[in-house]
Amino acid sequence: MRHLPISFDLRSKTVVVAGGGETALAKLRLLSKTDARVFVFADHPIPAVMQMISDFGTTLLRRQPGAADLTGVALVYAASGNAHDDTAVAELARAEQVLCNVADNLEASDFIIPAIVDRDPVTVAISTSGTAPVLARQIKADLEGRLDPQLGTLARIAGEFRGAAARLPRGLLRRQFWGRFFADAGRKALQKGGEAKAREALAELALEFEERTPKACFVHLVGAGPGDPDLLTMKARKLLHEADVVVYDRLVSDEVLELARREARLVAVGKVPGGPSWRQEDINARLVAEARTGNQVVRLKSGDPGIYGRLDEEMNALDLAGIGYAIVPGITAAVAAAAAAKVSLTRRGRNSALRFLTGQDLGGFAEQDWRGLGQPDACAAIYMGGRAAQFIQGRLLMVGADPATPMSVVENASRADQTIVSTTLGSLTADMAAGDIIGPAILFLGIAPWNAKDEAPSQVASVAATGGIR
Ligand code: SAH
Repeated sequence: MRHLPISFDLRSKTVVVAGGGETALAKLRLLSKTDARVFVFADHPIPAVMQMISDFGTTLLRRQPGAADLTGVALVYAASGNAHDDTAVAELARAEQVLCNVADNLEASDFIIPAIVDRDPVTVAISTSGTAPVLARQIKADLEGRLDPQLGTLARIAGEFRGAAARLPRGLLRRQFWGRFFADAGRKALQKGGEAKAREALAELALEFEERTPKACFVHLVGAGPGDPDLLTMKARKLLHEADVVVYDRLVSDEVLELARREARLVAVGKVPGGPSWRQEDINARLVAEARTGNQVVRLKSGDPGIYGRLDEEMNALDLAGIGYAIVPGITAAVAAAAAAKVSLTRRGRNSALRFLTGQDLGGFAEQDWRGLGQPDACAAIYMGGRAAQFIQGRLLMVGADPATPMSVVENASRADQTIVSTTLGSLTADMAAGDIIGPAILFLGIAPWNAKDEAPSQVASVAATGGIR
């Protein structure tokens, strides 16, 4: 990020505007909304600038600024409309170590002014770091339409009330109180009866919340889906937004974690390949400890928590500790992988059953009902099968499975680096090696990606373009 958006308190600060034409006028309009002391340096200001100066008690000096004029100044705008004069002002500012904005000159500017949606005291700043001002204006127009014009009033009333709200205990209860005020009680009261009613609604809501006790300790065991944040459930999203602590596995994607409340503490308890890994007992203990402090805990597990997710161990630990919990299902990897490969998981005439298998269990490579899986109509979604691929292939061929049995491998389903390999039982390991499959992958036995079944090569290519089929 080249430009950091900050909200700068301009009370009792001095701002210099060098220039008196249209460019300076635009800057003065914005500055007139702040509490800054503004000095305009211009030999011949246009009438509109003169008007602003007299309306807002701005000081006018009919000359170019000198070094002494910039000492102790907070910000300088070089906005004369003349590149030569602007450069001179920018150089002076630099010598005085004062931040300077040079009109229409991104490279020479220390700061730039974002597009602003103004619901004072609520302001939304939109910056494209100077790359796409038109885009910034489009976003601004979009937000202008979406944000209630009364938002500022609501925020101001809330600000005046902060002291009284401090009577509510910090944390969830207080957040819920403000949440209700902004989303519901306050907004409605303001719309119906104006500021006075909104103030009344706030006082009533505070009384209601003072009588509440904070929610009991609770953990949500939440499915994070396969990686794409659009595949989260609405419930998972809402809980992430409310969580105080998010305890997450390695396979939970960064994009999903980004949806956690900004103040939420993120605790990684996954296995880092080649690095230290958390023991299950330690994860359980951590969940219990976090919940006991009254935090709203979200235990975020990739896919669905109930599929190869050690859910039972965590539920047992919470039961033993007397902590309540709820499970929020997620889209499991097999389902996301099937969607990625454009296949159904059951199909009339092909398979009426589908098995979920793991390639690995506590004892290493997992033994399965190989004879059953070797039958011509057997279909399975194999989790954790990457390193076990050769073992699985060997076992199946040993019981007489047809080497031509279709198989497909979907790595990183739903993520940007999703890869699909279409193969057969006989070529599984060779094709996986050729496809460089090292990330999390689902191996489908008995199921081929749609394009590899009978279509012409041209269609394979069209899928490769969107889905990365190799
Ligand atoms: N609870 C998870 C599974 C956890 S076990 C779920 O329901 O999906 C971890 C295994 O899940 C990985 O070894 C891999 O086989 C599979 N997996 C997880 N995310 C995946 C993804 N985005 N694409 C393909 N497979 C994935």
